[in-house]
Amino acid sequence: MDKFVYLFNEGHSGMKELLGGKGANLAEMTKIGLPVPFGFTISTEACNAYYESGKTLPSGLIDQILESLNQLENNTGKSFGNPANPLLVSVRSGSVFSMPGMMDTILNLGLNDETVAGIAGLTKNPRFAYDSYRRFIQMFSDVVLDVDVFFFEQLLEETRESKGYSSDPEMSADDWQEVIEGYKAIVKKHTKKDFPQDPKQQLFLAIDAVFNSWNNQRAIVYRRLNKIPDHLGTAVNIQSMVFGNMGDDSGTGVAFTRDPSTGEQTLYGEYLINAQGEDVVAGIRTPLPIRTLSTEMPEVFQQFSDTCHRLEQHYKDMQDIEFTVERGKLFILQTRTGKRTAQAAIRIAVEMVNEGIIDKKEALLRVDPDQLNQLLHRRIDDSFERKQLAKGLPASPGAATGQVVFDADEAEMLTGEGKKVILVRPETTPDDIHGIIAAQAVVTSRGGMTSHAAVVARGMGKACICGCETLKIDLRGGKFSVGDIVVNYGDIITIDGATGEIMLGEIPMIEPELSDEFQVLLQWADEERDLGVRANADNPEDARKAFEFGAGGIGLCRTEHMFMDANRIPIVQSMILAETYEERNEALELLLPMQQGDFEGIFEAMQGHPVTIRLLDPPLHEFLPDKEELLVEVTKLQITNPQSAKLKEKELLLKKVRQLDEFNPMLGHRGCRLGMIHPEIYFMQAKAIFYAAAKLSERGFEVKPEIMIPLVGHVNELRDMRKLVVDAAKLVKEETGRDVYYTIGTMIEIPRAALTADQIAAEADFFSFGTNDLTQTTFGFSRDDAEGKFLQTYIEEKVLPDNPFAVLDQEGVGKLVEMGVELGRKTKPELKTGICGEHGGEKSSIDFCYQTGLDYVSCSPYRVPLARLAAAQATIRHGNKKAKDTFISIK
Ligand code: ADP
Ligand code: MG
Ligand code: MG
Repeated sequence: MDKFVYLFNEGHSGMKELLGGKGANLAEMTKIGLPVPFGFTISTEACNAYYESGKTLPSGLIDQILESLNQLENNTGKSFGNPANPLLVSVRSGSVFSMPGMMDTILNLGLNDETVAGIAGLTKNPRFAYDSYRRFIQMFSDVVLDVDVFFFEQLLEETRESKGYSSDPEMSADDWQEVIEGYKAIVKKHTKKDFPQDPKQQLFLAIDAVFNSWNNQRAIVYRRLNKIPDHLGTAVNIQSMVFGNMGDDSGTGVAFTRDPSTGEQTLYGEYLINAQGEDVVAGIRTPLPIRTLSTEMPEVFQQFSDTCHRLEQHYKDMQDIEFTVERGKLFILQTRTGKRTAQAAIRIAVEMVNEGIIDKKEALLRVDPDQLNQLLHRRIDDSFERKQLAKGLPASPGAATGQVVFDADEAEMLTGEGKKVILVRPETTPDDIHGIIAAQAVVTSRGGMTSHAAVVARGMGKACICGCETLKIDLRGGKFSVGDIVVNYGDIITIDGATGEIMLGEIPMIEPELSDEFQVLLQWADEERDLGVRANADNPEDARKAFEFGAGGIGLCRTEHMFMDANRIPIVQSMILAETYEERNEALELLLPMQQGDFEGIFEAMQGHPVTIRLLDPPLHEFLPDKEELLVEVTKLQITNPQSAKLKEKELLLKKVRQLDEFNPMLGHRGCRLGMIHPEIYFMQAKAIFYAAAKLSERGFEVKPEIMIPLVGHVNELRDMRKLVVDAAKLVKEETGRDVYYTIGTMIEIPRAALTADQIAAEADFFSFGTNDLTQTTFGFSRDDAEGKFLQTYIEEKVLPDNPFAVLDQEGVGKLVEMGVELGRKTKPELKTGICGEHGGEKSSIDFCYQTGLDYVSCSPYRVPLARLAAAQATIRHGNKKAKDTFISIK
């Protein structure tokens, strides 16, 4: 027979998997000699054995429990069910991860009609004894016998009223006895049985209930939500009771060893005099702040604060501690790592290094990179309640309040007047860009995480919610509705882009702040990490932001957004519509200086750090008006103004739009396929890059352009495009007399490119894994369709562990990345490799990138601090690999 039961003096904190978090820590505290009421833990393996034997306790287990109970009796000098000196215990569930879905703790188990009288006599406090008994009956009936607490509460209230009392403390021992009789009748009525009087039976029923609670609905949902495996099982802790409700020299409370919201090094917590267990959190009476204990019970306080200090030194982390004082004697009932805000996490980690408790590496591992996100965006003050009106996709974090507007021009105008607005649209297009810039935030009812609104807003660090389909937008009526609630133009709403929630009215916000400790931590991260961190930035402003956040370069500068500018789009359209080569070149000549200006700004902002510029990627029809809308316009004109020049113009446009229309734009005429068919576009872009570089080097700046060809699937594509870029470089060199260092590489975002990376590397100085498209093409999913239609179900049903667009699919897409790196380096050992796209800002993907040997990750500017920390954590976890994002120059 396996060992299923462990006395508190047999375990330690390293046994969490077996004893659960609570049990392992109770054992650890016992081991180091803290005043912990004695008890034992039934292991998680016992829970699994219980399920294996068809939800019954294996007989060996029953013996072990009885044996441990014996030991507990010996240890306490009390005995279970003996009225002369009864042992009472608590039954507490506890899994490896704390789970709010699990069974509630039962206190005072072991009380029955006889032992209660014993307790009354022993304590000379019958009121206390009967109060404890009625609590026990209610708690046990609720969580074990499944009788609704409502019946008990109702009876209690009626009794109180009939006696003319306004609160429980007025109840006498006799009154409680009366209530107890009523309670027992309720149990009999609802379970058809008497309330169990045999303490052992009570105990086994309670153990059964804890095991069963592992698979109740709440627990299952919680595990699913938090990705906790189902097979872990829960432990059960049986612990002798101590009583905080024995009078004014007793009490119970909870405390953190440091302030969990600011991280300040001060005891933080609350307690209640003459109270038991959950009374502190139940909110029946208002608890007192922990520092008042220092005047009310100075000795106990001193002992408690010494214990807190000791626990913190022992666990080397901030602790969340439960304690009870029984007649002036302190007992510790629980300790665990305290939950904390991001701000507190950083401060505590840094200060603990300064205090010599942990080292820098440990401090870096202590802060969850995901938490940093909160600190870099304005966010809603959580101390205010939010009433959610609707929920969409959390497309870009941050929070905003403003008046609802439905039109980009309107947004720009009102902002010009000093108003704050939120742009609400069915979806956005490049035509709305000025409105997005002006607005505080953007909400769309359609579109996914990569819709126009989402991408643009993320780039700007602006809050955005997409695909909020419950919003019924009535553009003409200037309003939207959610069910019966109508929100009109000008009404104030607040949105939380991190959760996707929309609320009515204004809610107070907290401004982002980069504390000194935060800067210190990131500096340590930079010292430690061996993986470059770059940013994706499409304009000088983003580049500056990226630099400020510590990016070591730009890993992806998309050039299409530069064309979406309202002033440029007509020129871009005329370039696309050009009938002849000359016409097209004319338009390109106009675009060239604009592009050059963009690049100059970006190079300047990056102060000599490398900048990877991707040549035009999206299909050209994205720059043209929407087909359906155009069709409506043409039809209208045909009726109202059939002879107009305007109609001719629109008809021509429609013809072109139809020509460019694609069955599947994602797999259509885009990326380098554009450059292959319209080399003049790429040639113009390449020239603009080199002119900009030449100009800046003339001004004394160092520039490191890395020119990236998108969507290459065959080495020949890259070979041709490389030649084009080299020609542009030569031309600019001849014209300007300036020699610019540059490299040419490709995005690896088509499986074929990864599979033939050895051939492709022959033409490439670097690879940048475009894992968004690589995920789409590997899975054969189009992201917007997948996220909008079936991905959620896939994740809920555990077909996929995560959204592969948010968390890199290491087994599939990741294998292609590994293969790409390996094959590429076989051909060209000095090949530089990186990843761009959302995965570059996600911690588990960053860890993977480091292990795969990539030189850098690149992500949105606002995620750069997160990535710096995650990169340091990966380096610490896996050891240095010498992957440095150093610039390899070629002439
Ligand atoms: P939770 O996980 O919900 O905090 P716990 O098992 O920690 O549940 O217990 C709930 C409450 O009962 C806590 O306030 C705890 O301190 C108290 N409690 C648990 N066991 C005992 C005991 N043996 N003696 C006194 N109080 C106890
Ligand atoms: Mg607890
Ligand atoms: Mg791509």
